[in-house]
Amino acid sequence: MPIIPDVLDYADELTQIRRDIHAHPELGFTEERTGDLVARKLAEYGCEVHRGLAKTGVVGTIRRGNSLRAIGLRADMDCLPMQEQNTFAHRSQHDGQMHACGHDGHTTMLLGAARYLAKTRNFEGTVHFIFQPGEEGYGGGRVMVQEGLFDKFPCDAVFAMHNKPGIPIGNMAGRPGPMLAASDRFDIHIRGKGGHAAHPHHGIDPFVVGAQIVLALQTIPSRNIDPVDSAVISVGFIKGGSAYNVIPDELHIGGTVRSFRPEVRDRLEQRMSEVVKGAAALHGAEAVCEYRRGYPSTINHAAEAEFAADVAAEVCGADNIDRNVAPSLGGEDFCYMLQKVPGAMLWLGNGPGEGGCMLHNARYDFNDSALPYRVSFFARLAERFLEPR
Ligand SMILES: [Zn+2]
Ligand SMILES: [Zn+2]
Repeated sequence: MPIIPDVLDYADELTQIRRDIHAHPELGFTEERTGDLVARKLAEYGCEVHRGLAKTGVVGTIRRGNSLRAIGLRADMDCLPMQEQNTFAHRSQHDGQMHACGHDGHTTMLLGAARYLAKTRNFEGTVHFIFQPGEEGYGGGRVMVQEGLFDKFPCDAVFAMHNKPGIPIGNMAGRPGPMLAASDRFDIHIRGKGGHAAHPHHGIDPFVVGAQIVLALQTIPSRNIDPVDSAVISVGFIKGGSAYNVIPDELHIGGTVRSFRPEVRDRLEQRMSEVVKGAAALHGAEAVCEYRRGYPSTINHAAEAEFAADVAAEVCGADNIDRNVAPSLGGEDFCYMLQKVPGAMLWLGNGPGEGGCMLHNARYDFNDSALPYRVSFFARLAERFLEPR
């Protein structure tokens, strides 16, 4: 059975909701308007509504029968701190804030599934619709879990989707095991000895040290990590100096580190510290690497990943499902939910990504034409997981 026919009846209304959220983006933990809209719609559809987890989080619940089985379906609600460059009518009305990651679409499709499931209730058990704040670096999913998400709303499995340009609309992709990477940050502070740029021998040039460090960091993934493992170290900025003829005292280098396996993550952290100290010592400078761990890797549970792929094949057609897509070095805070409850995250095709339609691009826009697939997938996931026995 492909797209659920009922869902097509309110596809236009879902598009309106999606565009309304797109026009009113809100950053992590400030999703007041979005949370209000979600809570209002959930109540209108006939769900119990719980608010306040992780400040702006919302959970909608529906039940049927006496079965104790429960499924969690999760969406994220926050936007990114960037200026939208689109000019269409539903462009962001908030300067410097934009739904460039498609979370407006995630929120909408979960509302669509809530509407359908609350009306039809072709299942036995409980469905929790989890709307989390602050996915973009704020760890809203972690805070919800810490504040007792799965104690208050016990789930036997939890599922999420992320839209993905580069995959055709109507197609989906997933895999068992690592789906997204651990995402960490570093700050390297180099202390040399400043002075006149014409007399470098009187000082210790932090730029020369920094240049060596940037290059030496690239030898860690290539020389210290097993080639069959994935690891990325990328410098995001170098800050220091202010004049053409002055060598400054200090230089600051920052960036991101990605990996999948915990052992690789430990090794990266350890080697970065050694390489930074060693390169500085070579020049008589001092340097420290502050390494801050962010989201751990998002690991799909094998049985739930297979179940989700089976449901995706039912909705989208078996030929349109990639069951073993390559993992992404991006990060996701759905990882914290998967550490507590078995489950899986899948990619949803958002089209070819032409015209700037790539995630985190200032021209990004979630593709409304695929909303019916996404709502049908979430709805069937719940119906099949909670099939009467
Ligand atoms: Zn994002
Ligand atoms: Zn995202």
